[in-house]
Amino acid sequence: MTKHIFITGGVVSSLGKGLTSAAIGLLLERRGLKITLQKLDPYINVDPGTMSPFQHGEVYVTDDGAETDLDIGHYERFTQTRITKESNYTTGKIYNSVIAKERRGKYLGKTVQVIPHITNEIKAAVKKPAKPGVNIAICEIGGTVGDIESLPFLEAIRQLRHELGEENVLFIHLTLIPYLRASGELKTKPSQHSVGKLREIGIQPDILICRTEKSLNEELKNKLSLFCNIPKKYVIEEKDVTHSIYELPLVLVEQKLDELILKKLGLKRKGRKLKDWRRMVEIVKHPKHTVEIAVVGKYLELQDAYKSIYEALTHGGIANNCAVKIKRINSEDIEKTSAAKYLKDFAGLLVPGGFGQRGILGKIQAIEYARTHKIPFFGICLGMQCAVIEFARHVCKLKGAHSTEFNLNTPHPVIDLMLSQRKIKDLGGTMRLGAYKCKLKKDSFAYQAYGHDVIFERHRHRFEFNNKYRDQFVKKGLRLSGICPKNDLVEIIEIADHPWFVGVQFHPEFKSQPIKPHPLFRDFIKAALANTTKPASDEIRSQKKS
Ligand code: GLN
Repeated sequence: MTKHIFITGGVVSSLGKGLTSAAIGLLLERRGLKITLQKLDPYINVDPGTMSPFQHGEVYVTDDGAETDLDIGHYERFTQTRITKESNYTTGKIYNSVIAKERRGKYLGKTVQVIPHITNEIKAAVKKPAKPGVNIAICEIGGTVGDIESLPFLEAIRQLRHELGEENVLFIHLTLIPYLRASGELKTKPSQHSVGKLREIGIQPDILICRTEKSLNEELKNKLSLFCNIPKKYVIEEKDVTHSIYELPLVLVEQKLDELILKKLGLKRKGRKLKDWRRMVEIVKHPKHTVEIAVVGKYLELQDAYKSIYEALTHGGIANNCAVKIKRINSEDIEKTSAAKYLKDFAGLLVPGGFGQRGILGKIQAIEYARTHKIPFFGICLGMQCAVIEFARHVCKLKGAHSTEFNLNTPHPVIDLMLSQRKIKDLGGTMRLGAYKCKLKKDSFAYQAYGHDVIFERHRHRFEFNNKYRDQFVKKGLRLSGICPKNDLVEIIEIADHPWFVGVQFHPEFKSQPIKPHPLFRDFIKAALANTTKPASDEIRSQKKS
């Protein structure tokens, strides 16, 4: 029988519940258990697909084409578990399903209510990953305890413990122990309140994980234990990590969190295997080299908007024993001055995905600079499309070439909507989504990276390379090195006469892991490293200031 772990959060949002859940998943996997990870989000959007990156950060896409919360990305980066449509439910998705059933008459004329209909639907969603062979289904509850909108989720997991038995369901509560600088004290009261709130609705946490910037002393642990009604050894300290999020599992394992969980759930396992993870963290902490990469995009103020891109760049660095310093450059700033001003000191340029007209010109200018100055370039989705537009305008001399996303009347729609996309009216869940097969040309940067010629990568876009222009492009030196066999779409473009110039229509960043860096990110950083005959980073900075 599958056991369940529920992870709730208290006191404040953005506590790192997603990371903690992913780290717990990793630790249990490394004890030989088969786990799954799932997130329940209390908001009403059916999925985050239609939300702006400013609102919600990145939309993370799964192999089966679900547009999910970015925490799901952490799950896939830390663990080997397969993430699917079942891995993320929102209030909107739950209600959608209940309302559809009501319309079909499935409730036999009954009044449809939050309890039991919504809570039953939530319980069914939570049980879905608990398939034969799965030892532990880990489920993170989004939001913070005390939010009105999380209540049905909390009620559903309370009922589940009651139904499945204490030995099969574990509650972990992640909380914040704030440090008051003025008095030099760590404070436990907010956590006491948050656990009190949980107990009010019938949930007694088994384990308390305390986010803190300072170590908890014995007295504090005693206090938390007493007032939160949790034995002291189950009060775990989660001190801020110094170098990287990938240190987190090691912080937790030092306090034997994996053993405590196994004990609570009555599971016996052999020793943990974390050697490769420790080795990876050592590289992150003490890298041999450093490389500076410019990311030219739009949603840059927000760390979360390109979460997987930044992580995948770090992974590419790990593969090359190298720290990747990322400089985010707003493409509109480039438009105001020049690409040279911003890009001349960087070892590589990455242009990520995005939507909408704003800042497109700056991206095109940046790519032109990288192409003509032989700076390694990696274009992802919109970044690839901009590279195609740049090549069309400046190499093929197709004046006014553009994507029809930005100019419907362009004389040269080198990026255009697929026929199947033209009739679509609904925005949610209607892009080309999820994993597609792609066949690689042998003589290419891509093949060199992957080492084999059939790959599967995830997509999230509406527009495509326009096949009408293929011959013109190829004649001028663009290599179409990846083709989707199913509908003959160009998925990868390259420039052969360049140290490394690759644009991909898909999102490779979603499949990169710290212990298994994505081959394209690995090779991009390798090429950037080879391009670092430039001044050391500190000199660059002082030059920029002067
Ligand atoms: N806006 C482009 C499209 O829809 C690119 C999308 C993306 O970068 N994810 O095709």
